[in-house]
Amino acid sequence: MKVMMKRGASLKEVGNVLSGAEEAGFSPYVMRQEERVTVCLPGADRRRVEALAASLEGVQGVAAFSKNYKLVSREFKSADTVVNVSGVPVGGKEVVLIGGPCAVESRDQLFRAAEAMKQAGAHLLRGGAFKPRSSPYAFQGLKDRGLAFLSEAREAFGLPVVTEVMAPEDVARVGEHADVLQIGSRNMQNFRLLEAAGGAENPVLLKRGMMSTIEEMLQAAEYIVAGGNPNVILCERGIRTFERQTRNTLDITAVAVLKDLSHLPVIVDPSHSTGHRRYVIPAGLAGIAAGADGLIVESHPCPDEALCDGTQSLLPEQFRDLASATKAVARAVGRDLLA
Ligand code: PEP
Ligand code: MN
Repeated sequence: MKVMMKRGASLKEVGNVLSGAEEAGFSPYVMRQEERVTVCLPGADRRRVEALAASLEGVQGVAAFSKNYKLVSREFKSADTVVNVSGVPVGGKEVVLIGGPCAVESRDQLFRAAEAMKQAGAHLLRGGAFKPRSSPYAFQGLKDRGLAFLSEAREAFGLPVVTEVMAPEDVARVGEHADVLQIGSRNMQNFRLLEAAGGAENPVLLKRGMMSTIEEMLQAAEYIVAGGNPNVILCERGIRTFERQTRNTLDITAVAVLKDLSHLPVIVDPSHSTGHRRYVIPAGLAGIAAGADGLIVESHPCPDEALCDGTQSLLPEQFRDLASATKAVARAVGRDLLA
């Protein structure tokens, strides 16, 4: 339910609705659209909200939500959101490249990867310290040691870091080492994690669940934004289909649809969507052509020795090729690669 305030309602009147709603046990948050203020009460019972509103000043009316997501929608905010990642704008006119290994495997491996990414033109460094692996016997990541290496690499190469967080209780700790918190495909609907990310200071990279619809993805993003964190980057990383030649099927249409429905930046992951090194560049370029604001791409100094996702990891020189082709495609669609 939502309580729409009258045009020009005072701060005090809005405050009274908020505190009344809190006292009634609701979890209210405020939405502001031009001069209109609405107090949102997710999950609240209509009769109780009507009773509350009837006793307060400045209220125009009460209504049910018309959509399952709001704050992330273009209707709520028509201009593109540009997420500032420690000085790197994501979602502006210029597209960005995020590169690095699937997992942090050692200090040496990460440093070699970071140096190569810096030289090849990446703007942000990726690398997982906590890895959500389908098998419990697969390499699970270096965890806290990996976080420390990421912090060191960030300092050494001046690249802001994107790394995954898997559990709500880790959000604050990972956030101290990372610039961007990644929420992976397998956790897109881990609602406690989404709520915890909503309370974080860091921007969040939210990957599409491999079995999730676009609407479910936008609702997951809504959890984070409604929780107080407006800095969400959406990532299309492929969904499961009957096709077996690729690891997943990159839903290129989702890029255009997400850009249409939401003001949030959208990036494409051509690594996890294809699963094979040789399809990564074409899939990534298709993402840019479809309107993506950037790419997140796995690259390893020695992919054959990678502990995780080596077959889809670009060699550093391929990442350089990707950067120059991305620039050309971005220019062809009226954009550019961030310098
Ligand atoms: C990853 O980025 O390494 C990863 C595990 O991605 P996804 O959650 O998209 O599978
Ligand atoms: Mn990976």
